[in-house]
Amino acid sequence: MQRESSRRGAPVLSVESAIGRGPFAILIFTALSARTRDETTIKAGRRLLSRAPTPQKLSRLTIPQIQKLIYPVGFYKTKARHLHPLSLALIRDFKGKVPSTFESLISLPGVGMKTANIVLASAFGKAIIGVDTHVHRISNRLGWVKTKSPEETSAILNRTIPNRYKRKLNMSMVAFGQTVCTPLRPFCSECPLTRGCPKIGVSKRR
Ligand code: SF4
Repeated sequence: MQRESSRRGAPVLSVESAIGRGPFAILIFTALSARTRDETTIKAGRRLLSRAPTPQKLSRLTIPQIQKLIYPVGFYKTKARHLHPLSLALIRDFKGKVPSTFESLISLPGVGMKTANIVLASAFGKAIIGVDTHVHRISNRLGWVKTKSPEETSAILNRTIPNRYKRKLNMSMVAFGQTVCTPLRPFCSECPLTRGCPKIGVSKRR
């Protein structure tokens, strides 16, 4: 998956070079990314992080200023409403640093299980799989799981996938989902996994 999506220039693979690997940047990017194309998230994340590279600087922006900086990411008004208290919580409860435990991360405003796991894996190198819509869809198509929600998929994958693959799995599967195993009409005829893939639930393909 990693090789094929890298050859095809998956947008998510440019995130690291665009925003860096700092925990705060990864947290902001992941919080902005829900229901938004990566190209849009990268631009919005860069605009916001150039004005507010730390929780302290973010806390000094007003919610309308944050809205303006992150527009047009999906649900930008709601995300801006969460980002401001998120910065205050980081300052108040964690001395202005992004915490490195699951429990602490999900205590932050607007941070759910998916964001917490992605931050733990990407920013802190923990052996955890962040399961988003791409990871959930592809795992079901491949028959690794038979689940209805990303939460169920997360529980099974985190139990069954060997630790050494976990940290990179989210990035590889998101990149693969953007370029080959796309939500609608995946490119099965060009997919390196096609011979072994049962293509569960795929009705139309290319
Ligand atoms: S063969 Fe098709 S459904 Fe299976 S992983 Fe490849 S693109 Fe996805």
